[in-house]
Amino acid sequence: ARSTDDSGIVIIGLGRFGCHLAGSLTQLGHEVLAVDRSPDRVQRWSAQLDRVVQADATEEAALRQLGVADFGRVVVAIGASVEASVLSVLALTELGVPQIWARATSEKHAKILASVGAHHVVFPEAETGERVAHLIVSRMLDFI
Ligand code: ATP
Repeated sequence: ARSTDDSGIVIIGLGRFGCHLAGSLTQLGHEVLAVDRSPDRVQRWSAQLDRVVQADATEEAALRQLGVADFGRVVVAIGASVEASVLSVLALTELGVPQIWARATSEKHAKILASVGAHHVVFPEAETGERVAHLIVSRMLDFI
């Protein structure tokens, strides 16, 4: 069935980043479809998240079968495997997903993600490091 609710978001990869992202979006009231290729990860998060399915996101046919193309936004939260991340973004591009967000672990990784069709690229580790640095400095100023 085609989802007409554009608040739905697909999260691919339930590592540390992906599971927090999926949990926060769920708390914010969004319908979340979480996808991971590991049956253990799927099992682990199935109690906390509404919809968790096992699939290899590099397989366009598998994504199509899950109805991923009906969601307006998809986040590729895979980090360690550049190959899996890039091939997943490529599959989503081929499906015509309107808003593809992807996690990069390096500048080169980010360039490849953009070149295969990612609309938004985020760097969770770099962004968190930067934010915490500012937090530490601002807290230090409080005590001067
Ligand atoms: P984090 O830092 O968020 O914990 P990580 O870098 O340690 O992530 P990754 O290798 O990025 O770990 O994997 C994150 C999740 O993505 C894992 O649960 C893994 O099973 C899943 N994953 C990896 N490849 C695919 C794929 N092709 N399809 C679906 N899920 C995948």
